[in-house]
Amino acid sequence: MRMAYKCRTYPTPEQAVLLNRTFGCLRVVWNRTLAWRHARYHGEQVKTNFTQANAYLTAMKATDELAWLNEVSSVPLQQTIRHRQVAFTNFFAERARYPRYKSRTGRQSAEYTRSGFRYRDGVLTLAKMDTPLAFVWSWPDLHPATLDPTTVTVSRDPCGRWYVSFAADVADPEQAPATGTVVGVDLGVKDFVVTSDGEKIANPRHLAKRERNLARYQRRMARKQRGSGNRAKARAKVARAHRKVRAARTDFLHKTSARLVRDHDLIVIEDLNVRGMVGNRSLAKAISDCGWGEFRRMLEYKTAKHGRHLVVIDRWYPSSKTCSACGHLLAQLSFGTRTWQCPSCGTRHDRDVNAAKNILAAGLAVSARGADVRPQGSSLRQSAVKREASPVRVGIPLL
Ligand SMILES: [Zn+2]
Repeated sequence: MRMAYKCRTYPTPEQAVLLNRTFGCLRVVWNRTLAWRHARYHGEQVKTNFTQANAYLTAMKATDELAWLNEVSSVPLQQTIRHRQVAFTNFFAERARYPRYKSRTGRQSAEYTRSGFRYRDGVLTLAKMDTPLAFVWSWPDLHPATLDPTTVTVSRDPCGRWYVSFAADVADPEQAPATGTVVGVDLGVKDFVVTSDGEKIANPRHLAKRERNLARYQRRMARKQRGSGNRAKARAKVARAHRKVRAARTDFLHKTSARLVRDHDLIVIEDLNVRGMVGNRSLAKAISDCGWGEFRRMLEYKTAKHGRHLVVIDRWYPSSKTCSACGHLLAQLSFGTRTWQCPSCGTRHDRDVNAAKNILAAGLAVSARGADVRPQGSSLRQSAVKREASPVRVGIPLL
């Protein structure tokens, strides 16, 4: 399976100069080809494919004005063209926004494929660089010398920290011992996670505190004159505050997802239309702060890594309005209603726990039919059968 290992790296001043120059070239290539492609589309009504964009890059490098593009490795320049193709594919498939221009103040990154770096015995040397790039390895279970990376990405965050990320195909996923339990997970704003077992994990409050700090730094920056040294200093503070918010959130998401994966053979979540919900202004900020999309990606790779299963059910499934005990479907359930009693069987429900139970039942139904999950080994079937007798499954319609 494919894994990425992201480490801090500490380039020498000479290496930093070359990397910063590479980032500058990448911005120029990205921004110019984006403008060119935009003009082609709106002027001549033609789409641009990778070969055409790559030919445009070659033509740019041949001009006197842009001859300095040849001073850096050609590999990341080509990769940036490739990335933009993917960005446009995602845009046309309505999975992403229109690709934006790159700014010099944001995060910078350069991706090297095999022909752009040498990696031997844990020593990394990038193209056009004479000396190895020092990095800090932080996976004690894996010796860096055994790694066979296929791509290497060097990045610099807006605070000036450097990172190198190794993507590699790792042979054996670490199979965690089966636990014999399954869980349905309802994701929310106040409680980040509510499980079908009734456990609630609140959205951490320290994030809100850090966010207030961030907002304060942003206001300060807005008052400084554009282009001034004070504005640059204020921007650095904003970037640091951003990093702290991001780091705190990522840490929370990692811990929460790791625990769910460790404790359960099968996890069921709802396919939330995060983009559609973010369109609702009042909820937008709260939702984009939650990191549901990132949480789902973490669950995906962690379940794959440890031989667990993740089932994602249809987001139109009425998980909140269905009674998990008898299957009765309410006509309506207002957003503010936290608890309700089933008119049919009389069971009292916590709104979110009931939803999580329904999500679990729907996920088990999906996995029993073999759709959406790859049945590997017996743990899945055992746990599905184990739950077969529980009241959760009774009366729940198949999707
Ligand atoms: Zn009921």
